[in-house]
Amino acid sequence: MRYTQYMLNTLKETPSDAEVISHQLMLRSGMIRKVAAGIYSYLPLGLRSLRKVENIVREEMNRAGAIEILMPMVVPAELWEESGRWEQYGKELLRIKDRKESPFCLGPTHEEVVTDIARREIRSYRQLPVNLYQIQTKFRDEIRPRFGLMRGREFIMKDAYSFDLDEQGADQAYEKMYQAYRRIFTRCGLNFRAVEADTGNIGGSASHEFMVLADAGEDAIVSCDSCEYAANVEKAELGDPGQSAAAAAQEMKKVLTPARKTIEDVALFLETSADQLVKTLIVQTDTGETVAVLLRGDRELNEIKLCRLLGCNWVEMAPEELVVKATGAPSGFAGPVGLKLRILADFEVAVMSDFIVGANEKDAHYTGANLGRDFAVETFSDLRQAVSGDPCPRCGGKLQSWRGIEVGHVFKLGTKYSAAMNATVLDDQGQDQVLYMGCYGIGVGRTVAAAVEQNHDEHGIIWPMPIAPFQVLVTMVNPKDQAVVEAAEALYGELQSRGIEVLLDDRDERPGSKFKDADLLGIPLRVTVGARALKEGSLELQQRSSGERTMLPIAEAADALAQQVRDALC
Ligand code: ATP
Ligand code: MG
Repeated sequence: MRYTQYMLNTLKETPSDAEVISHQLMLRSGMIRKVAAGIYSYLPLGLRSLRKVENIVREEMNRAGAIEILMPMVVPAELWEESGRWEQYGKELLRIKDRKESPFCLGPTHEEVVTDIARREIRSYRQLPVNLYQIQTKFRDEIRPRFGLMRGREFIMKDAYSFDLDEQGADQAYEKMYQAYRRIFTRCGLNFRAVEADTGNIGGSASHEFMVLADAGEDAIVSCDSCEYAANVEKAELGDPGQSAAAAAQEMKKVLTPARKTIEDVALFLETSADQLVKTLIVQTDTGETVAVLLRGDRELNEIKLCRLLGCNWVEMAPEELVVKATGAPSGFAGPVGLKLRILADFEVAVMSDFIVGANEKDAHYTGANLGRDFAVETFSDLRQAVSGDPCPRCGGKLQSWRGIEVGHVFKLGTKYSAAMNATVLDDQGQDQVLYMGCYGIGVGRTVAAAVEQNHDEHGIIWPMPIAPFQVLVTMVNPKDQAVVEAAEALYGELQSRGIEVLLDDRDERPGSKFKDADLLGIPLRVTVGARALKEGSLELQQRSSGERTMLPIAEAADALAQQVRDALC
């Protein structure tokens, strides 16, 4: 492709509404343009990378035995009413009406449609197992669309759904997808982890998320430094340390802590550290309950673990009025002593003694508080967020924490949708059996954005070869110099005839600005055709990732470049 004919406009300035690097670089390199919040056009360069990810996904899904279909983006409400999600899904589901006032939605995911297909098409156990997938545009009216393709409202997803006769078959389908996902993200050239994930409201027995490691990731994950264990912190279990607290050495004493409301302020004021405090969170549940949760002062509550313990769907911090009503003091001074609420505590609190708690009185705390003697706890449980250094729940090794971008998700669904929608097949005894399902998603655009997030420097993108929009960039230093033009055109033709994807920068621009754009676009191999080297019969090759420069004899250049591309794709 010739630059001058490619509608490729780079931007010098960083767009002000782009917060993360991948969003900035994808706008600046002319890959995408915003149409509305969370809705983008993919320009030619951007589309090339998207298609590459799609192709890798398609090849690996086919290799794993999945079958490609394409379901509609516009879905009638009836199907969603059958599963119960028309009511449950909330505002991310964009509901629309046609001219006859019939309700539809834009598909945010396709369990209902695919289950409808399965119940019509799959009649006998002999047709199983089946795994149906599509690569399709999804719409989710996200509350905060941001970060470009990372969290859009309209985005491209590969979604697959497996159908099996029994749980054992479903487990095998899941394992196949797990392995296919490993291959997909490896082939994309990404550094990722497969982590155990919470199954949330959907229930189900297992779920893994595939996380691309990147500082800007929205998810926190932990992985063990000595075994394979890795999990989303939402899910990472922490066992009962099993020790008991040292005997109380201090009397409980009320101390004044004027206007010291945060753990840090109180610790500083009382000249101690946050881990000597126990914080008391007053929490409200969706079931209308108010409970107190105790954590070591430097720990964070894991709301999912608390929901699991309480059997509720969500929890939130109680509003000020409720805190005042429950504790008799403004927030910042809550404590377990004399508190008339259910008191739940993290395991770690059980091993503490002589600690500091709020006194349920404005501007006051207790020091020397002790469990049992001063207050009682109803239940101890694993309620906190895992952090770096915590013990691995599998092997006792050390957990390390990372930020990650969730690019894929595999999920054992069980019979949730098939039972609700009566998707059954006849087994070998002629009996109806409800199908076992799994669902498996990959965000195609998010994968491209995550690749940029993981692979860039201060000058621009550094594409992994497998998903780079072009493999080689050939830059004519001076397009008015006939010898330069001829050599660059010849190389361009030779590379194309070897099946290499090449962009020829034939613009009549200053070399400096061409090199800047080359850095920004991040094409892995960059060949510079300039008059001086040409006289010596050579071209300069620069690797975008390492910056390393080498001279290539003209006669060997096309073969050498083609070989480097092939090596980088393996
Ligand atoms: P998140 O927690 O990030 O909102 P999710 O759990 O809602 O993701 P899934 O329903 O599992 O996501 O969707 C499958 C995949 O689709 C995700 O792993 C992600 O790669 C992609 N995806 C989900 N929401 C978006 C979005 N708003 N923009 C781009 N990609 C998305
Ligand atoms: Mg989501």
